Amino acid sequence: MGMVKQRRLLWAAKLSLPLLIMLAPLTLGAEQRIKAVASFTILADLVTAVGGDRVEVVSLAPVGAEVHEWELRPRNFRDLERAEVFFYNGYGLEQWIRQVRATVGGDVDLIAVAEKSGYPTKPIRIGELEGEPDPHMWMDPRAVERYIEVIYQTLAELDPDGEELYRDRADEYQAELKELYADLEEKLATIEEERRILITSEAAFPYFAHAYDFRHDGIWGSNAEEEGSPRQMMRVVDLVNEWRPGAIFWESTISDRYVRSVASDTGVAVAGPLYVDSLGEPDGVAGHYLSMMRHNANVIVAALGDGEGGDVGDEVGDD
Ligand SMILES: [Zn+2]
Repeated sequence: MGMVKQRRLLWAAKLSLPLLIMLAPLTLGAEQRIKAVASFTILADLVTAVGGDRVEVVSLAPVGAEVHEWELRPRNFRDLERAEVFFYNGYGLEQWIRQVRATVGGDVDLIAVAEKSGYPTKPIRIGELEGEPDPHMWMDPRAVERYIEVIYQTLAELDPDGEELYRDRADEYQAELKELYADLEEKLATIEEERRILITSEAAFPYFAHAYDFRHDGIWGSNAEEEGSPRQMMRVVDLVNEWRPGAIFWESTISDRYVRSVASDTGVAVAGPLYVDSLGEPDGVAGHYLSMMRHNANVIVAALGDGEGGDVGDEVGDD
């Protein structure tokens, strides 16, 4: 750390002392809140979890968007111009990070949350980028505890007056993450070990699979490369025929046509969507990180379990 500059409260110099005293006990006005920009919705949700009302967060890639190959829109440039801090995942998730850097110049700190977290990386499984660190680290709640720590440190340096609030909120959220990790472990363990197979469009689950003891593969290794080529399709059809999973899964940000094509060639069931690269709609089943992870686990248990795992948690779509 140490690179984050304390914001200067220039607005304060323009106000008279009595007015400042009057304002003091009130919640922060819009112009006083820290302006944070996140690269995608999941990170925006985590920044809000720590920042609360002191931080105004916008996500560049909106709900349902493809984050890997997002193209900056005019609205994004406006948001970046106002930003005091920019949070992104790193490890190659945001293929467009150079464009952000060029836009904000040296004025805004760019925080690569996954890279700064120090959480051990897993390699991309297959494809052109095989062996490089896989970016989908947030799919392990234990890694997200570290994300929260990075976000806390960044906000506390930027806005020391909010330090206590950020610490309290970070502690509370980290406790929820511990509970999430344990709940999912219990729920997913109801699936028999040989049925714990997760085949998806993008092989975006190496952290999740490691955390919860699944075999994992996908049609392609990363959304940053070609998607659904004949070669990728043939490879995964062979794999599905070999592993015979209870179902194969599609993701909310990717058309289900690839997975359906594999299913029709192999006769396995299709389930989904799983949420990985974006939250769902704010009021929906996957509107926040915590509900998204619980929803994913419910979808997986419903598809791969023997039907007796339902007593451990909520029914699918119930969160
Ligand atoms: Zn992805």
